[in-house]
Amino acid sequence: MIIFNTVKAIQEYLGHFKRQRIGFVPTLGALHEGHLSLIDRSRADAEITICSIYLNPTQFNESKDLERYPRTLADDIHKLEQRECDILFFPSDEEVYPEGTDYDLDVDLSDLMTSMEGEFRPGHFEGMAQVVHRLLEIIQPDHIYMGQKDYQQYLIVRELVKRIGWDMKVVACPIIREEDGLAKSSRNVRLDPAIRNRANILYETLLSVKENVDRSTDLNYLENWALEQLRIPDFQPEYFRIVNAETLESVELLSDASSVIACTAVWAGDVRLIDNLFLKKD
Ligand code: AMP
Repeated sequence: MIIFNTVKAIQEYLGHFKRQRIGFVPTLGALHEGHLSLIDRSRADAEITICSIYLNPTQFNESKDLERYPRTLADDIHKLEQRECDILFFPSDEEVYPEGTDYDLDVDLSDLMTSMEGEFRPGHFEGMAQVVHRLLEIIQPDHIYMGQKDYQQYLIVRELVKRIGWDMKVVACPIIREEDGLAKSSRNVRLDPAIRNRANILYETLLSVKENVDRSTDLNYLENWALEQLRIPDFQPEYFRIVNAETLESVELLSDASSVIACTAVWAGDVRLIDNLFLKKD
């Protein structure tokens, strides 16, 4: 694997491979099987696979979360090499934001950014879209691989690419889970062991919702039922929403949209967990 730290060096290198299909996996690092499944998918589809590791400060709405975020570069490099990733892009803040971070994108994505994660993590999606836009501008991939785990993020990036008119395909990949169902996340290592043991409550609740839903179910009622299930000691749900999977608008009945997804965010002690499950997919 070749590692690049500067925009100039990676662009010069990629200039030699103009006709090759480039697959790109943007990450914050602390890589686990969830990230590596995206690398595998890119390797299956594309001729060159690039992973970026950049702990983007502008998407952390809480400075404590950024401070505590695990940094495991040597281990990450080892994992990427084992999975035969071709290129790692590991830039500094100056490379990503040569003019500073104080600018807005020209694209308005507020329709997808204000609910759920946007409501509880103000500024998070603006920062995420800012860095993804910059990374796509630098790398100009053909395909971008993202996890369904961050479903709203995937939808925003898909719309960003579409609204700018870039010829890039944004691919959503399945959620990789621990054996008990907890979605893999870089933040899971921070879970207190007693809390970790019960952290599959998110997935269990999503599965129960899916089992209990039919054409006549009142989905608002089901959201409230799910919130009650998630209120166990040490756990504090922020939201449980059942929405149109294309627009993220609320739905009252399954028939209101062709694809419907349930999304949740829950504080488990001082770690914030998110998860989701399609209730209906077209
Ligand atoms: P992050 O480093 O958290 O920004 O994640 C980088 C990419 O990996 C995003 O597209 C995430 O959705 C994806 N990802 C993170 N965890 C998982 C998981 N458990 N399964 C699948 N994809 C994941």
